[in-house]
Amino acid sequence: MRRSYRFLLRPTSRQAAALAACLEDHRTLYNAALEHRRTAYAKAGVSVRYGDQSAELKHIRGDDPGGQGRWSFSSQQATLRRLDKAFRAFFDRVKAGRTPGYPRFKGRGRFDTVEWPKDGDGCRWDSQPGHPAATFVRLQGIGHVRVNQYRPVRGRVKTISVKREGARWYVVLSYDDVPAEPLPPAGAVAGIDMGVASLVTTSDGGRVANPRHLAATADRLAAAQRDLARKKRGSKRRRKQVARVAALHAKVRRQRLDHAHKAALALVGDYDLIVHEDLRIANMTRSASGTIEAPGCNVAAKAGLNRSILDAGWGVFLTILAYKAESAGRKLIVVNPAGTSRTCARCGHCAKENRVSQASFVCTACGHAAHADVNAAVNILRAGLALRDAAEAA
Ligand SMILES: [Zn+2]
Repeated sequence: MRRSYRFLLRPTSRQAAALAACLEDHRTLYNAALEHRRTAYAKAGVSVRYGDQSAELKHIRGDDPGGQGRWSFSSQQATLRRLDKAFRAFFDRVKAGRTPGYPRFKGRGRFDTVEWPKDGDGCRWDSQPGHPAATFVRLQGIGHVRVNQYRPVRGRVKTISVKREGARWYVVLSYDDVPAEPLPPAGAVAGIDMGVASLVTTSDGGRVANPRHLAATADRLAAAQRDLARKKRGSKRRRKQVARVAALHAKVRRQRLDHAHKAALALVGDYDLIVHEDLRIANMTRSASGTIEAPGCNVAAKAGLNRSILDAGWGVFLTILAYKAESAGRKLIVVNPAGTSRTCARCGHCAKENRVSQASFVCTACGHAAHADVNAAVNILRAGLALRDAAEAA
């Protein structure tokens, strides 16, 4: 999997205008290429391929030096490839016997990214290394744009993309070959239980709460979505509300990512080995048995959205945890979560009556009482250690 960084751009007003023009020209190119494929097929039964369209780019650029000709050839190829991908997906679904929608024209606001597929080709990351106080990215036709680089970039930059989100512009770098940064041994191991009230509970009783500001943004998002449902289709108010909802979604994403980074970093610092549940299985069993109720006594709809926002956080968190563990030289073990929340961590007695409430666990056989999440985390750790021992013995 390729990793990525995302930084806010600080374009000058002239650069911002150039970025908007660049995005608009790529959108036009995308739509023109789509139209080309459509009419060639409708009128002559000819399937146009990526190679044909890429070959035509030279003429398009030559005919329009002040427009399409300004931008990077490779970034335009990337846009044509994106269209090609949409067509491939379409034909794959047709082949699978489904009735997919034909690739669509991109309206304004439906096309927000331009990609430069190779650092150094029409773009250059850290284009002015002589200015150590600030980072710039050079983009063909746009200039050296200042980057709000809040953490160091490790590894080798592969692709550079620019993305518009509302009024903001971001640069997204994908990279690989990250140098490993092994941490000194921590001398401890942990199982982690993932939940709603706490993002993570460790087998030694530590907890990482889901941050309040994330829940607050989730509340605002839920309210904004309810408002949106009441707005009339095609109205100006509705369009404004769509933008508001999108901005809140983006905010939730940023907050969740930031929180996941911090939580993963702390765990990787504290433990040599971390055991967690297989999330796919966990999600299925949770929704089937309802072992995790929505926290608090909120209105059902709000709790539902809140819950789904926090749920989505687990996947993000585990992805980041896997990256960080790998580069720090820590071991991760994934276990099947079956029974971890109902089994007594002291005597092994498994019964659903052990789980007295969302928060507390009392074993009906031996009387062992613990926080339910900690009890589960201990079981998860034990399952992981058993897997490790079995692997080492083999
Ligand atoms: Zn027990």
